[in-house]
Amino acid sequence: MQSLWNDAEAATCADDPLALRVYTSRLLGREPSLVLHGGGNTSVKAEVANLFGEREAVLYVKGSGWDLATIEAAGFAPVRLEVLQRMAELPDLPDPEMVRAQRAAMTDPYAPNPSVEAILHAIIPFKFVDHSHADAVVTLSNTPDGEARIRALYGERVLVVPYVMPGFDLAKTVWALGRDLDWSRLEGMVLMHHGLFTFADDARESYERTIALVSEAEAAIAQAGPRLAEAAAANPDLPNLARLRRAVSRARGAPVVVQWDRSPGAVGFANLENVADIACRGPLTPDHVIRTKRVPLVVGGDVEADVTRYGEDYRAYFRRHAHAGLTCLDPAPRWAVWPGQGTLAFGASAKEAGIIADITAHTRDAIQRAEALGGWRALPEADIFAVEYWDLEQAKLRKAGKPAEFAGQVVMVTGAASGIGRACAEAFHAKGAAVVGVDRNPAVREILSGPAYLGHVCDLTQPEAPAQAVAEAVSRFGGLDVLVSNAGNFPANLRIEEMDPAVWESSLALNLTSHQRLLQAAIPFLALGHAPAVVLMASKNVPAPGPGASAYSVAKAGLTQLGRVAALELAPQGIRVNILHPDAVFDTGIWSDEVIAARAKHYGLSVEEYKTKNLLKVEITSQDVAAMTCALAGPLFSRTTGAQIPLDGGNERVI
Ligand code: ZN
Repeated sequence: MQSLWNDAEAATCADDPLALRVYTSRLLGREPSLVLHGGGNTSVKAEVANLFGEREAVLYVKGSGWDLATIEAAGFAPVRLEVLQRMAELPDLPDPEMVRAQRAAMTDPYAPNPSVEAILHAIIPFKFVDHSHADAVVTLSNTPDGEARIRALYGERVLVVPYVMPGFDLAKTVWALGRDLDWSRLEGMVLMHHGLFTFADDARESYERTIALVSEAEAAIAQAGPRLAEAAAANPDLPNLARLRRAVSRARGAPVVVQWDRSPGAVGFANLENVADIACRGPLTPDHVIRTKRVPLVVGGDVEADVTRYGEDYRAYFRRHAHAGLTCLDPAPRWAVWPGQGTLAFGASAKEAGIIADITAHTRDAIQRAEALGGWRALPEADIFAVEYWDLEQAKLRKAGKPAEFAGQVVMVTGAASGIGRACAEAFHAKGAAVVGVDRNPAVREILSGPAYLGHVCDLTQPEAPAQAVAEAVSRFGGLDVLVSNAGNFPANLRIEEMDPAVWESSLALNLTSHQRLLQAAIPFLALGHAPAVVLMASKNVPAPGPGASAYSVAKAGLTQLGRVAALELAPQGIRVNILHPDAVFDTGIWSDEVIAARAKHYGLSVEEYKTKNLLKVEITSQDVAAMTCALAGPLFSRTTGAQIPLDGGNERVI
């Protein structure tokens, strides 16, 4: 573990304790083996002037919902120190009451909720307090003789606290242990099965103590010579991946996005002979249970039966530990171990799947290291249950609100680098979908960013390209629910007698045949999808063709007919197929200002008149087409298939 302290960076914080607190919190946050995705918390004690100019002692403690890697000064909740310290002396305090009292003691009502460990931070008699869930320290403690190992390693330099549920009980335990303690001899405090605290009056010293204590733990683990298994992945089993995703989505009551880890480390772990045993002993630290549940799914043979059995086991676990008034959460696994194939993370969004994947990668390594130290031993399931069903965590889940319209769904859009395709990709992404944008223009990789987007470059007229694009989408997100088949071009305007065979052939290849190939490749996965839907981008030219556009109109008419047949064939599998006929969408790459001006002049119209040459006298934008595409793929049109929808501002010939 390397210290990331940098004198020049620290100097910019001058003597402002809160700025220093932000700085060293981010140093902790930059190291995933110290804190992962919102884990850990930090604080600083400071004297500030109140409204009346009086000095008040305040604890700035990490606010709930903030991540140490990106925290800012606004992410620290200012709480009156004395109130927190007096709360520790109460004989008993239910956690929801504690949260309410902490909030009431804040000096800024608009600050975030203080961490549930605020009281613990307040009673540690040092200015800076750093709390991490360091992998190495927790790994040592998660072994059969963990406490003895920790004591042997650190001696009298750390206070060892047996596992206690986080919140008021933990604060109270430390308060009792710390009353007659000489804190000045301590460098830190190890919470068994949970994490590490370090503290000092100096920001750097507190941070460096974390680094030093974790380094010692890492060295102790290295001495045991742990071996992290590695293996090459078998051929990807995409049909079973999509089946698994469907089964997990049904168990969860909402579609999930899958993040598949096929790295040598993930496959090596999944291939371990005893993986079903060691992977199912419990999480690395109890707060992971909120993200990962207590145990993963171990994929055996029939993936659907595996998910059913997981659900039965989960309900039995709930019945073993539940008290009156608790409601069982959904019984769907959050991650899976799949021998030969690696590990899978299931999220309500690509972001959540990514977070779970990160946690499971750290967990699988910790398990193997602890095995080398005599055995991986997580907390008993009753303790894990208590955190999973903790009032405060349940309240957070309730607060999460309604998911986005396409949350958890996987959408493929072709021709996504520009124009209508790009607008569709952006619209589905904004509505919560995981999106795969396909285009032969490499710019498709950059149109969106983040975990919920994959840009795939290919020429869909090449024989293998459609199947490869579908495989790419399924590998990345676990399945396919919506296909927006949009890729196309305008061939040169030529009358039939002067038609160049190459123009004709290439229009049919892209505007018709490539869509048929893509649909063919997508159907087996759409059939396993959540509320599956296909939207084909045809044209006003189908119901109202114009002279000179036979190569285009014939291909689009063929595409329309393909969609009608597909609607008939795919209805039994619940796949809806609808067709859009847009017209005069000028904000796309093909229409430059000069071309529009020339066409307008040709008709004797102004540019504005030309753009709104329809019954409603309105302009039609790519965003209008994207909004209609989302509607066709979503619940609004869930009872409609085989429809052809004009999007042309009204056209007499079409009507
Ligand atoms: Zn913690």
